[in-house]
Amino acid sequence: MIGLETHVQLNSKSKIFCGCANPVTVEGKNSIKPNTLTCPTCLGMPGSKPRINEKIIESAIKAALALNCKIAGEIYFSRKTYFYPDMSKNFQVTQYEIPLAEEGVMELNLAGRKKKIRIRRVHIEEDPAKLVHQSSPTGGYTLVDYNRAGTPLIEVVTEPDFTSPEEARLYLQKIGQIFDYLGIYDFASEASLKSDGNLSIDGGKRVEVKNITGTKEIEKALNYEAIRQRNVVRGGGIITQESRQWNPQMGVTKMMRTKETEEDYGYIFEPDLTMIEIPKTLIEKIKKELPELPDERQKRFIKQYEMHEKEAEKLTSEKAIADLFEIAAKKAGAKVAAGWLSGPLKKTLNYNDLTYSNSGLKDEWVISLLSSFAKKEYTDHVAEQILRKMVELKVDDATAAKKLGLGKIDDKDRIKDVVKNVIKSNADAVKDYRGGNEKALHFLVGQVMRETKGQVDANTAKKHILEELK
Ligand code: ADP
Ligand code: MG
Ligand code: ZN
Repeated sequence: MIGLETHVQLNSKSKIFCGCANPVTVEGKNSIKPNTLTCPTCLGMPGSKPRINEKIIESAIKAALALNCKIAGEIYFSRKTYFYPDMSKNFQVTQYEIPLAEEGVMELNLAGRKKKIRIRRVHIEEDPAKLVHQSSPTGGYTLVDYNRAGTPLIEVVTEPDFTSPEEARLYLQKIGQIFDYLGIYDFASEASLKSDGNLSIDGGKRVEVKNITGTKEIEKALNYEAIRQRNVVRGGGIITQESRQWNPQMGVTKMMRTKETEEDYGYIFEPDLTMIEIPKTLIEKIKKELPELPDERQKRFIKQYEMHEKEAEKLTSEKAIADLFEIAAKKAGAKVAAGWLSGPLKKTLNYNDLTYSNSGLKDEWVISLLSSFAKKEYTDHVAEQILRKMVELKVDDATAAKKLGLGKIDDKDRIKDVVKNVIKSNADAVKDYRGGNEKALHFLVGQVMRETKGQVDANTAKKHILEELK
């Protein structure tokens, strides 16, 4: 049995309870100095007061609606007490008794079937500061960077409805995909999505594996934890309720602490933030403005462009690719665009561990390459080589083609020369073909394509070979 608690960093301009820039969206975010995006509120100074950022409530409502939740008419914030240097107030402002939303559901696409995952709740909270551990010969020390303190989060908690680590991964990928469509978080950054995975076996106590970053680690962490628990039970031990830490480098989970109980957190209502009413009219307005979500878009693609489910699934995996496809379909035809974007483009991005949004590619570059390909100016092979170069160097198609010394060969005389040479140096194959062996012709076509590094496509090569043989 597996249940997930997932924290999503929202991409608002400012933090949740103050006017400081949100480190998730601030310009030049990779070179920001520690403790510069701070004010008395996010530093947790005594006497400072929080104010809620309205945009965060709107983003959270979008998320809750997309997950089919019931939204509360009024919400409160609570203080969750704990002693830790990343939270200098010694409490985190979160929601406890009355979360923004409850009782949602999302549907997973498993191989050949659908499965409903119940969403227990969606609530809003603040991210703590970041601890930076330094080692030193005298024992080491820890630095605190408060830039992250007050970054807006939503937490999505599921019921324990997953029955395998793979389902947990598919769920997380879908959460990321839906929130990408809603435009409320940074899809391209793995760090925007962090989960705690709860896992129990055979009705035993649940163990919480904390802080698993991104969508890729979850399956590994939970697989490890399931095997660990089985081994403990097999050895005659019992599983105690505890929190463990996932170590991605070592690929193991490690005991952190026995699990706190609710009482340990000493929740009280946050007196500095009043009750916030969520008007029905606001919910209705946001509902109307929701974009087409991945499942609907996938269905529409299948119908409108007559494509296979697998293809539609790949094209809608990221909103930017789905958008690109619809433009490309007009320019290069839906069939070519679908095949090419769901094939070579996805393959190249996956190989480089990139999303389309953070690949550095521009729509017009990809569409230009695709149009040339659709006009048969490039073969499959050449177009893919060019794309790989485009991703590698972050350049347009023409520049990439030039770098590779590749391009379209439309010089008939040059093709004829190559064909003549191939025929001359493969006399045996020519004899076989004349004797009725069709395979020998394929061989000759292959030789011409090889000689021209794929710049001549198979049909053109065949045409020229047949002409020459006549
Ligand atoms: P906490 O906030 O203290 O971690 P919750 O009661 O909110 O505890 O539950 C957290 C998560 O644990 C939920 O996602 C829930 O689905 C999951 N969970 C609850 N019981 C089990 C169980 N027996 N096995 C696996 N997961 C569980
Ligand atoms: Mg928990
Ligand atoms: Zn601040």
